[in-house]
Amino acid sequence: DLAPLRRALLSVSDKTGLLDLARALADHGVELLSTGGSAQMLRDEGLEVRDVSDLTGFPEMMDGRVKTLHPKVHGGLLALRDKDSHVAAMDDHGILPIDLLVVNLYPFEATVAAGADYDTAIENIDIGGPAMIRAAAKNHVHVAVVTDPEDYDALLAEMASHDSQTSYAFRQKLALTAYSRTAAYDAAVSGWMARALDAPAPRRRAFAGTLAQTLRYGENPHQAAAFYTDGSDRAGVATATQLQGKELSYNNINDTDAAFELVSEFLPADGPACVIVKHANPCGVARGATLREAYGRAFDCDRTSAFGGIVALNAPLDGETAQAIAEIFTEVVIAPGVHHDARDIFAKKKNLRLLISPGLANMAAPSLTYRQVSGGMLVQDKDTGRLSPDALKVVTRKAPTEREMADLLFAWTVAKHVKSNAIVYAKDGATVGVGAGQMSRVDSTRIAARKAADMAEALGLPAPPTEGSVVASDAFFPFADGLLTAAEAGATAVIQPGGSVRDDEVIAAADEAGLAMVFTGMRHFRH
Ligand code: 5GP
Repeated sequence: DLAPLRRALLSVSDKTGLLDLARALADHGVELLSTGGSAQMLRDEGLEVRDVSDLTGFPEMMDGRVKTLHPKVHGGLLALRDKDSHVAAMDDHGILPIDLLVVNLYPFEATVAAGADYDTAIENIDIGGPAMIRAAAKNHVHVAVVTDPEDYDALLAEMASHDSQTSYAFRQKLALTAYSRTAAYDAAVSGWMARALDAPAPRRRAFAGTLAQTLRYGENPHQAAAFYTDGSDRAGVATATQLQGKELSYNNINDTDAAFELVSEFLPADGPACVIVKHANPCGVARGATLREAYGRAFDCDRTSAFGGIVALNAPLDGETAQAIAEIFTEVVIAPGVHHDARDIFAKKKNLRLLISPGLANMAAPSLTYRQVSGGMLVQDKDTGRLSPDALKVVTRKAPTEREMADLLFAWTVAKHVKSNAIVYAKDGATVGVGAGQMSRVDSTRIAARKAADMAEALGLPAPPTEGSVVASDAFFPFADGLLTAAEAGATAVIQPGGSVRDDEVIAAADEAGLAMVFTGMRHFRH
């Protein structure tokens, strides 16, 4: 299953390692074919190279759009060397076998990431490169294809140990890498185009990301993992710059994303806000007159859970906030900027990861969420649903006061980011109890109230902070029990979508308990 390697075609945009590879191939007696820029570089270094245009009898033309798209190239890559009719075709048309293809593509992803305009992006879609890669990979029974400079050494090691030839298993592995590359490339193109046309595209036919980082491990140490980016310029964990701290883990990335997306709901113009996340759920969210105060109030929601948490801020991290955060063990801090004094304070905390995002995420911008299921992947629009205050319907005899209404909207925003069943108690622009991820809504309501009572005890407060709070539920209360639990905990107003067959029962219970309740008509499941 060894294949000889007589002739190689080299056509690369990223010329890293090209020279060393070409020299080594020449030493193995391999004849070199190459395209414009690549050929020039090799020739400049005194290597003997034949131009592809010489082979095809056509010049490279149309700004390089047509260089290698020719039967002499594709026939040389695709011909079955052991099939009579293919050999005859090669003979008839003067086609020479090409046994090795080394191609890396026009840097489409990098061009788009650098903010290229539409026409520049289009011009950076490689056509001949993917065509050759796919041809060579299809014919891996005879042809080796290398699409990543990182694989040059492995190729040379293979040739060294197989008398200048390559094994079938090796070529198969290269073909798999090659098809992964062209698939990712076209997915990057279609992803860019969907964004350029502002087309929310959960029904696109293919999705792929670009490998950004291999991770030490996944959710657990025995799971291998990696981080893929989709080329979007959305502010967040994928586009943030890490200024200090250990490498982000799989769980860090997941949690940081959850924290940052939620804090991005709070526009800086409306004042400082802070989110603390554990296991992708917020355990404290608060506004404050200052960032320091917002952090302190978020921390006070659930001091126990905040330990080892992820902190997201909607304004640049300042010194006094950094000082407060540094007092307890925190995994990650993400903010749209950092002051010098804050950097100095964090510098002493070597392990603390500090990420600076390019602004806040635009929570109204269309984007997608993906979820893997066995045998496939679910894709949907991100939940950008936003409530306009006039869509709210008061359903109880009592209407919320202005203060309650502000807290209801705050709690509703937080509930959108809590795993269902989600219950959020809030007071004066801060969460005071969060119940997340329970299989029954009444349990979430009880857990959140119990945690608030625990905090009151720990902090020596005279009354549980749910006293005089409001409560949000991400989906309707199917029975009155959850609502009554909230009333018992001291909540005075409720926000929920409504829409249950027992709405009348639930409204009557709210009236009887003296609660004000509003329906949103919109649900925020998050699983
Ligand atoms: P060079 O720097 O050698 O002139 O060009 C190398 C690049 O051209 C590689 O990235 C390769 O994928 C790309 N390429 C090779 N043939 C063609 C072609 O026929 N059309 C286009 N658009 N790109 C090609």
